[in-house]
Formats: sequence, C-alpha cells, structure tokens
Amino acid sequence: ADIYNNYTVHVHQPAMFQPVGGMGKIGDAFTRECRDMITFNAKVTKINQDETGVTVDYINTDNPESMRKSVRADWCICTIPLSILTQIDINVSEPMKQAMAAVPYDSSYKVGLEFKRRFWEEDEWIYGGITYTDLPITQISYPSQDLFSSGSGVLLGAYGFGEASYKFNSLTPKERISAALEYG
Ligand SMILES: Cc1cc2nc3c(=O)[nH]c(=O)nc-3n(C[C@H](O)[C@H](O)[C@H](O)COP(=O)(O)OP(=O)(O)OC[C@H]3O[C@@H](n4cnc5c(N)ncnc54)[C@H](O)[C@@H]3O)c2cc1C
Repeated sequence: ADIYNNYTVHVHQPAMFQPVGGMGKIGDAFTRECRDMITFNAKVTKINQDETGVTVDYINTDNPESMRKSVRADWCICTIPLSILTQIDINVSEPMKQAMAAVPYDSSYKVGLEFKRRFWEEDEWIYGGITYTDLPITQISYPSQDLFSSGSGVLLGAYGFGEASYKFNSLTPKERISAALEYG
C-alpha cells in the first residue's frame, strides 16, 4: 500500500513546469542577453582547425554575393547538425568524418492549428493532454495553459514521425493545414 503514497507512481505524475510564453522565450532571453555576441544570417561554409586555433568562414545569407567573411578563435563549439556538417568543408580526422556520417537522423513534423474557439474544452470537456489516433497525424495535443478561457486557442493538430512525415513535409504549409484538419 505504501507505493500509493508515493507521488511518483504513474497515476500521480510530477508537475511539469513550462516557461511563461512557451519554450521560444528561452531563445528570446539568450538573444536579449547576448545580442552583441551574435552574428545573424551567417551560413558557415568552412571550419578549419590548425595548431593554434580554429577559423570559421561564413557568408551573409541576406547578401550571398557579398564577400565571404571569417572569424578566428582558440576554440569552436559547433552545434550544426551532423547531417549538414558532413557536407561542409571541415578538416577533422577520417575516423571522425566516418562517425559523423554514421549518425542517423529521423524525420518528424508538427502542425499547429489556431481556432477561434476552444471547442475541445467547451464541447468535449477536454482539458490538456493528448488524443492518440491511428491516422498519419498520430496525435492531437491540447494546450495546458489558459484553461477555461474564452476566445481562441492553439492545438497541436499533428505530430508524426517516419513515413508519414516525409509525405507531410513535402506539402506546402497550406496543404499541410488542410490535411491536418481533414484527418482531425
Ligand atoms: C517536428 C519536430 C518536433 C519535435 N518535437 C520535439 C519535442 O516535442 N520535444 C523535444 O525535446 N524535441 C523535439 N524535437 C527535437 C528537437 O527539436 C531537436 O532535437 C533539437 O532542436 C535539436 O537541436 P540542435 O541545436 O541540435 O539542432 P537545431 O535546432 O536543428 O539547430 C541547428 C541550427 O544550425 C543552423 N545551421 C544549419 N546549418 C548551418 C550553417 N551552415 N551555418 C550556420 N548555421 C547553420 C540551423 O539554422 C539551426 O538553427 C522535434 C523535432 C522536430 C523536427
């Protein structure tokens, strides 16, 4: 019986906190605090390491015809996805190159749908959580904020992986919304 007093059993899930305004606010805060250190619209084209440091070449995506620029530093912390990094001119060892090319990536897609009215709450009494389906949209996820409020709300109208995501990702945004609405 003791186990039922433990609030981490699956029927008593721990509280999950979220940033006010959504996860995007984390990136916004970094931008606010580190604005002077960031170069926007810089597409890295080459990373070259030598005995004394690293040189990173980039182009300005706003003006691709402009001169290629470069920055030099003691170290480079690179967070470019491996699927792209393997296509960039980078002087790493052969085993490192092979390791980078060997990491598989999965495909995924999400569709956000804003409705004028929170019909899932008003008509269906659904407050947060997820509806799982056997359709290509996989799931419908309901907002966990502003419960009982009137006016508009945003649903996660689809969140799929694998085969279905290739189909969804090849649609235009408009077609994607139509498909998500139809399945929903
Ligand atoms: C549809 C979808 C839904 C997901 N849902 C969830 C979820 O609910 N929860 C969760 O935890 N994770 C989720 N993920 C996974 C999560 O988004 C990723 O794991 C995470 O964003 C990876 O972070 P990252 O910094 O490695 O790469 P990214 O976020 O992809 O960042 C890489 C950055 O590198 C930049 N870049 C690429 N090439 C260059 C270049 N040549 N020069 C300069 N910059 C370049 C890109 O513009 C990008 O900003 C989801 C992913 C997808 C696609």
